[in-house]
Amino acid sequence: MNDLTYSIHEAGHCVTAFALGVPVIDVQLCDVTQSSHCNCVLKNGVFDLPVLLGGIAAELILRRGPYGSAWPSGFQELSPEDWNRALRLIDKLAMQTRRETETVIREAQTRTTEILVTRWDQVRAISDALRQRRVLSGAEAWAVFQRQSPPGVPLPVAPPKIVSRKIVRGGW
Ligand SMILES: [Zn+2]
Repeated sequence: MNDLTYSIHEAGHCVTAFALGVPVIDVQLCDVTQSSHCNCVLKNGVFDLPVLLGGIAAELILRRGPYGSAWPSGFQELSPEDWNRALRLIDKLAMQTRRETETVIREAQTRTTEILVTRWDQVRAISDALRQRRVLSGAEAWAVFQRQSPPGVPLPVAPPKIVSRKIVRGGW
């Protein structure tokens, strides 16, 4: 992976989070010795799934254009860490059947792709800012997001607020 791919990946998490009202703490593009990350405040609900899948979805769009609901097999390999987080979350939600689980995953994939295709200018802009500055606070990322808001797409009037400071930071 190169800088562009990493920055698009993190911007994918960030834009999905903003679009869904999930607060972003910071986004960082690191060199190879550390992992890049987008720290968000997740609520451990099914609504978090698109945020977790946002990095992978953004990479897929960068490589081969929007997939709609049909993600290629092996997409998990783009980020096993993100994918495992998504699986752990689904586990917690205690889906009853395999079919139920598959439906939830498919819906989350479709939703994530839709968000990022609609907001691709915002993904590119945050990715560009990340490559220039390496780290953006949640407020700085929000300012870029706001500037690049696509016409006709409703923008939340204020960035989602970080209510609790008791946050477990993790790189993804
Ligand atoms: Zn990720």
